[in-house]
Amino acid sequence: MTHELLVIGSANADLVVSADRRPGGGETVLGGDTEILPGGKGANTAVAAARLGADVALVGAVGDDPYGSVLLDSLRGSGVDTGLVRTSSRPTGIAYITVTPDGENSILVSPGANGSIEPADVEGIFDGVKTVVLSLEIPLPTVERAVAAAADAGVKVLFNLSPAAKISDATLAALDVLLVNEHEAAWLLGGELDDPRQLLELGPKAAVVTLGARGAVVVTEDGAVEVASPKVEAVDTTGAGDAFAGALAAAVTAGKSLVEAAEHAVKVAAISVTRRGAQPSYPTSDEV
Ligand code: ADP
Repeated sequence: MTHELLVIGSANADLVVSADRRPGGGETVLGGDTEILPGGKGANTAVAAARLGADVALVGAVGDDPYGSVLLDSLRGSGVDTGLVRTSSRPTGIAYITVTPDGENSILVSPGANGSIEPADVEGIFDGVKTVVLSLEIPLPTVERAVAAAADAGVKVLFNLSPAAKISDATLAALDVLLVNEHEAAWLLGGELDDPRQLLELGPKAAVVTLGARGAVVVTEDGAVEVASPKVEAVDTTGAGDAFAGALAAAVTAGKSLVEAAEHAVKVAAISVTRRGAQPSYPTSDEV
């Protein structure tokens, strides 16, 4: 069961409910019907890559409960191998999302099974793998162990530092590609994103910063290259960063340069924001 691309990360059930306003402490508010959507950064990234034809497996964990089955079905339906998604004794990760009429989301995440992914789960899984993509929402020691093991095995390491968190200098130095949005980039650089080339001073061989509707900038030792996004009517940007990560990884695994991969990823992410949801909005390569 060897795959060219491994994604190591979270799988969550997104429980979405709209309400006129969000309840304050001690208050009860009636909302609309609950929508149950497959989400989590790892699962989203794996689904995005698989829809584009990548040979991909997710390394993660879900609970032995109905939400876990929903997530596994969605992964398999998109062609993601789930052989390395462990069933945990903890419940499936859930994101409780409240949406108000102003379009604002508030999100409470219960990591559940995602919190049970241990360093031992990422040992001995890199044989024959070309690329690995990691994101946070799973325990940091596991992520750092996986980066070191993958780098040792000669696997190309893409790290989506989202949500932003402090990672070690050794981990940063082992990355082939650091992928961040503007806010995460600014946070890493101590507050301002003046020059994305400064990200390489933190240790990675290359960096990609996503810039929302403006596209992305690719930084390598040859300098910074801006990749413009196609102009689209955005309806829902949920999971756009994960679509970008999956598409970037799929293209890098297929042998494209990082700039070519980013050109592909902005097209994929632009299509994803024109449709509702995260995973359901991701296109196939024919559509791109
Ligand atoms: P995140 O979703 O992680 O916050 P961004 O907002 O930078 O990250 O979005 C990731 C990518 O999604 C962008 O690089 C871009 O390609 C695409 N994207 C996001 N918003 C839009 C938009 N309004 N129009 C077109 N593409 C978008």
